[in-house]
Amino acid sequence: MNGEIITIGRELLMGEIVDTNASYFAQELANAGVTVRWSSQVGDDIEHLHEVIGRALDRSQVIITSGGLGPTSDDLSREAVAGVLGEELRVDSEMVAWIEGVFRERGVTEMPKTNIKQANIIPSATFLPNPGGTAPGWWVKRNGSHIFMTPGPPREIKRMWANHIGPAVRDMTGAGVVHTRILRTAGMTEGGIDEVLGDLFGTENPYLGIYAHVDGIQLRIISRAATDKEARSITDPLETEIRRRIGSAIWGADDDSAATRLGELLIDAEMTVGVVDSGTGGTLASLISRAAGHERWFRGSMITGPGGAPLATPLLESMLGGPAGRTTGTVSEAAAVQMAVNARQLMGADLGIGITPPSSEDDEQMKGTIFVAFATSSGKKVVRSRFYQPPDRALPRAAMFALTEAAKAIAGDEV
Ligand code: ATP
Repeated sequence: MNGEIITIGRELLMGEIVDTNASYFAQELANAGVTVRWSSQVGDDIEHLHEVIGRALDRSQVIITSGGLGPTSDDLSREAVAGVLGEELRVDSEMVAWIEGVFRERGVTEMPKTNIKQANIIPSATFLPNPGGTAPGWWVKRNGSHIFMTPGPPREIKRMWANHIGPAVRDMTGAGVVHTRILRTAGMTEGGIDEVLGDLFGTENPYLGIYAHVDGIQLRIISRAATDKEARSITDPLETEIRRRIGSAIWGADDDSAATRLGELLIDAEMTVGVVDSGTGGTLASLISRAAGHERWFRGSMITGPGGAPLATPLLESMLGGPAGRTTGTVSEAAAVQMAVNARQLMGADLGIGITPPSSEDDEQMKGTIFVAFATSSGKKVVRSRFYQPPDRALPRAAMFALTEAAKAIAGDEV
């Protein structure tokens, strides 16, 4: 079954936004057993829309569009599909009432008149509910082809796919259920993983993929079967084998973020964490602060400039219990450990994390090296890595490194 994706909007062609909708649908359609053969971006121009949609109807059985369902005059997706099919738009009064209700829920008593446009439909289409916005989608069937029209906002399309489009497409392809498991690793390179797991790649079902991500290398297992239980029974043995070979490098699975995973482990161990951070400019605290429930386990972070030494004021020294404050500017294992010990004390936390600044030494082995230490009442651990990219890339990577290594240390009872 041929699939085709059409993402609509002038801003895509101007490079103002990145077309994440196309990659989202490409992935979901593939998982649902549709072979995507074409994907195009088109501006808000009725003639160009006619051309792209008409061509898609000639050659594809599953067509997904995104964008152009807003209420303004440059939102032309409905008009374009109506034009290609030679059908008249009419206003659906039930849909008008539904959109009015959405506005009322948002505290707006009177729906702007322009929004009536979003209740337009043609006879061969049915509405696709959009629980996240005012623009319903359309599902159009014509000569064995299906057009699914969705709005632009990524959050809205994901719910529409999960609730309506995905199940409908799976029904058509008979793809059954797809089970996906993501294993998140840290501390190994793609090549390193390939050396250990090389023989597990290359099968269709389960399929094993490998991707580099900011929080480490991800392994993705995709299995298909008639039922979820059967699909999981295909995934499980491969997951077990991967964990047997590289289990110590795996710090999380599926939607885990490095911070939420660390939080779960800390909650299980009834521990809290405090940080002295000279290496990520507060990025670590910022990532932790985005994890739901972090108030239960995050005690705080002291962020020092990478120079460190000027911060060794008498006040800081007394807070840190002596000249230890000076260590914040030093790039060494001992400095990281001292900072982790200080972090416990300063924040009254069970786990202290200390992060040195990246080394500015020219020495090839040291340049960009940071040390991250973990300290608890029963042990200490230091890890190192090198981050020599520009700060906008290096800081999040260093913070992810600290989080994933902390999770590994707690999970492995190493501190
Ligand atoms: P709305 O009802 O919000 O106006 P719409 O269907 O008219 O939705 P657009 O106006 O085209 O959709 O897009 C709304 C927003 O959705 C854009 O500002 C953009 O942030 C996001 N968006 C649109 N298309 C894409 C895309 N292909 N990939 C990622 N984001 C997108």
